[in-house]
Amino acid sequence: MHSYDVIVIGGGHAGTEAALASARAGAHTLLLTHSLETVGQMSCNPAIGGIGKGHLVREIDALGGAMARAADLAGIQWRTLNASKGPAVRATRAQADRVLYRQAIRGIVENQPNLSLFQQAVDDLVIEGDRVTGVITQSGLRFDARAVVLTAGTFLAGRIHVGLVNYPGGRAGDPPATTLAQRLRERPFAIDRLKTGTPPRIDGRSIDYTGLAEQPGDMPVPVFSFLGSAADHPRQVSCWITHTSERTHEIIRGGLDQSPMYAGVIEGVGPRYCPSIEDKVVRFADKASHQVFIEPEGLDTHEVYPNGISTSLPYEVQVALVRSIKGFENAHITRPGYAIEYDFFDPRGLKASLETKLVDGLFFAGQINGTTGYEEAAAQGLLAGLNAARQVQGREAWSPRRDQAYLGVLVDDLVTHGTTEPYRMFTSRAEYRLQLREDNADARLTPVGRELGVVDEARWSAFSRKAEAVERERARLQAVWATPGGALARELEQATGVSLSRECTALDLMKRPELDYSAIAALPSLAPGVDDAAVAEQVEIGVKYAGYLERQHDEIARSRRNEDTRLPEGFDYAGIPGLSAELQAKLAAVRPETIGQAQRIPGMTPAAISLLLVCLAKRR
Ligand code: FAD
Repeated sequence: MHSYDVIVIGGGHAGTEAALASARAGAHTLLLTHSLETVGQMSCNPAIGGIGKGHLVREIDALGGAMARAADLAGIQWRTLNASKGPAVRATRAQADRVLYRQAIRGIVENQPNLSLFQQAVDDLVIEGDRVTGVITQSGLRFDARAVVLTAGTFLAGRIHVGLVNYPGGRAGDPPATTLAQRLRERPFAIDRLKTGTPPRIDGRSIDYTGLAEQPGDMPVPVFSFLGSAADHPRQVSCWITHTSERTHEIIRGGLDQSPMYAGVIEGVGPRYCPSIEDKVVRFADKASHQVFIEPEGLDTHEVYPNGISTSLPYEVQVALVRSIKGFENAHITRPGYAIEYDFFDPRGLKASLETKLVDGLFFAGQINGTTGYEEAAAQGLLAGLNAARQVQGREAWSPRRDQAYLGVLVDDLVTHGTTEPYRMFTSRAEYRLQLREDNADARLTPVGRELGVVDEARWSAFSRKAEAVERERARLQAVWATPGGALARELEQATGVSLSRECTALDLMKRPELDYSAIAALPSLAPGVDDAAVAEQVEIGVKYAGYLERQHDEIARSRRNEDTRLPEGFDYAGIPGLSAELQAKLAAVRPETIGQAQRIPGMTPAAISLLLVCLAKRR
């Protein structure tokens, strides 16, 4: 009764995707978490996606995960960021109703075959020899498993700070995982501290919106899931924008002596790209004002999330700083902002499968690997859960390559470089970002997901229908020739003013910057075209970026050999003649799984890689 293939500890973003992926892959799975009420809880701002993060959400969806579907059911304001830029960096962001999001995740988790839930804190892991064999809960219950995925988020030895007051906590209102953190510290894992923070929440009824800039969502309303539609979204609302003032900055500067960060009480490093307002005021001292987005927390609550003023200053200072902001003059704070410090594990202690190198069958995912963000956590969770299931089933681990997915970039960055600050995803982290677009995440990953057993029949047939429609439309336009002076050329000139100087196919017409799919498909000889915008988008991007994509394909093909050349697990780097002691030590510390990964270790030289290849060839 207490025995499972895979146990997942933690019902946050990593844990729910891990449990779902493991169960989808066919493993008998248990999700053990502090409280079933907080499954899928958003600890900080109620938003999913954004630049780089939206790409991860689409990839999770392409692999059958839950995040995009839940966001579609909970998104109350939608935007396409970078809409005027190229397709590689366009990203979807949804402001979510916190309650609806949690309900959606809980519903998906509860209805997943092969998956059971149990509410209880886990206090220890059972490790026999080098292998994890189960977990022990707070009340002494033992659950056996052949693999365990740990996704404890900010809870391991979590400590909450508000001003100079601090106390143990996993996040506001939740207990920390103190005993489990202690047990893990008794093992030889490399553990350090990070910190993150959140702003005070405000009762929206106490805000004066007069004179503030309204930010409605985009039209047409974006959608996250490849299986979703705008009809899935609840009622839409606006966000608002205000700004901090010189007065705000004065109040903050006056309170710095009571800031746990500036008084040296917090040791952990915080997220560079999501700094607290006190950090922004100190670091960008010449800026007279910072933007604050007023984001609704949901449809059935008055609470709002003032995005941009995360702080751990004392409550009294928070009240003063909030009330110095335009529109917030009479604001009532419903929850104070705070910072939280927590334990994380050096991700260089992980394989690309997210299994720990130290304990067989033990996988780590999410914030505990040094990342920040729901999307980064969920993506890792999916991978860890899938690989835990595969290991139990005697199958080889799977991890996407850097040219295949942002998930591949994320994992490779973490396991190769480690991190000294909370790691968040950006499109700039991907060298092949033209390949790794939000719009083609399904083409990149759904066929692989199908093979791995995590993509169900409904998703597979929807994907196959779309892929066939794209091919059909490409072939149709490829087969029509436009000749100067011919009927199609005349239609084109009449409709768009573009004149043709030489013969080309209707498909090739889209290579011209002034022409897009809708213009071509509207020409009488080519109408009506496809009515599915996602199909039209694939046809258009495929043509417009064909040259760049081909060049990137060639580059990827050249590096593939190194990515596919595996280094044996126990490889003895000390024995490589000619390799410097420094590089031997670096290789021994990272223990790369492929030559490609070895190449990305900072300081690695082409000469060292050649020595490695020679040594590898001799071993064979
Ligand atoms: P979590 O969402 O934290 O989930 C962990 C789960 O594990 C919880 O359900 C918990 O109850 C459970 N759990 C923990 N220990 C045990 C145990 N021993 N037994 C059973 N269950 C256990 N991200 C950003 O991108 N930007 C931000 O600005 C930002 N600010 C943040 C501010 C605060 C105060 C906090 C708390 C988080 C913030 N985050 C921010 C981070 C974001 O919340 C996390 O990245 C994300 O939630 C990580 O997901 P996770 O699944 O790894 O962990």
